[in-house]
Amino acid sequence: MSSQLTNYQCPACTGPLRYDGESGMLQCDYCGSRYTAEEIEKLYQDKLDQAEQTSVDAAASAAAAAAPGTDNGDAEQAYAEESWNAEQEGMKLYNCPSCGAQLICDATTAATSCPYCGNPTVMPGQFHGMLKPDYILPFRVTKEQAVAALKKYYHGKRLLPKTFLAQNHIQEVKGMYVPFWLFDGTVYADMEYRTTRVSAIRQGDEMITTTDFFDVRRAGTVHFTRIPADGSKKMPDELMDSIEPYDYSEMKPFSTAYMPGYLADIYDVDDRESYERAKVRGTHTAEHLMDSTVSGYSSVSPVRKQVRMKRERTAYALLPVWMLSTQWNGENFIFAMNGQTGKFIGDLPVSRGRYFAWFAGIAAPLAAVMAIVLYFL
Ligand SMILES: [Zn+2]
Ligand SMILES: [Zn+2]
Repeated sequence: MSSQLTNYQCPACTGPLRYDGESGMLQCDYCGSRYTAEEIEKLYQDKLDQAEQTSVDAAASAAAAAAPGTDNGDAEQAYAEESWNAEQEGMKLYNCPSCGAQLICDATTAATSCPYCGNPTVMPGQFHGMLKPDYILPFRVTKEQAVAALKKYYHGKRLLPKTFLAQNHIQEVKGMYVPFWLFDGTVYADMEYRTTRVSAIRQGDEMITTTDFFDVRRAGTVHFTRIPADGSKKMPDELMDSIEPYDYSEMKPFSTAYMPGYLADIYDVDDRESYERAKVRGTHTAEHLMDSTVSGYSSVSPVRKQVRMKRERTAYALLPVWMLSTQWNGENFIFAMNGQTGKFIGDLPVSRGRYFAWFAGIAAPLAAVMAIVLYFL
């Protein structure tokens, strides 16, 4: 038995619909009709509910089949075995609703296109219960724009193998919704530094050098909203970090209607594991902020730091990425572009540090402790 697939068809001509980032609408390439995500959602609600129910039932019957003491019929036995094998390989089976071909996908695949008929398909059963994202950030950058940027990027690289510049290869760039966790949290930081300020004045034949010592303390809280960490094992973390930031104000409540025409994955790194990365980013950013306020001294050495982060809200969102990955001479080449802003990775500097919304610091040089006077003869 295979899980259920949905493809969104044009209500006018039954052609396949795809989500178009430029217009923000679902587009039929056959008759040219356009629909909003809301319109298509309404039309397909029953079908989606049914698909969700099917996957819940399938999970329940698989559990029942696996339970000891249950009298299984032969058919059920065969199903249990088949699904066990597929799951063991980390795969899932689907039937394409357009051409009937059987598709074997990764267990995390949530949207794809049929390799036989090319129709975009969505696996709504992948999103039931806990796996349902809170938000989706629709694509804005079109495939044409991604291809143009990719060409331009490759153009400057003289050492790049010719195959990379081949038109057909560049066309393989794929739009993908990548699962992300977005963490809100507050960092409490309390740090102390020992600092010095050295000054020298000449008095006649003598050079008098004065060193003032200070105990400097900085304490404050830094509030972070939506520190992103991708929830996909397949995606290199640094790569996903470097195409930030996303503008989260454009996020929509989750709907599969934004997915036709793109690939999509569900998470396989849970929020607890991903939070560890977010925590490192949050606490490091807060420490650097504290450090940056201790200025105007001859020397600064940290003597004590107490930094902890309190986790607040967590959201699960699918974010748009254009990807092209290839192997050449045993080396991996990867291109990734933010599907909302068009920012992509290459040899560009990584911009960081927009994570805090609010910052308060107490600047309190405690005391000038002493002065030492040295005489030079
Ligand atoms: Zn149509
Ligand atoms: Zn097909």
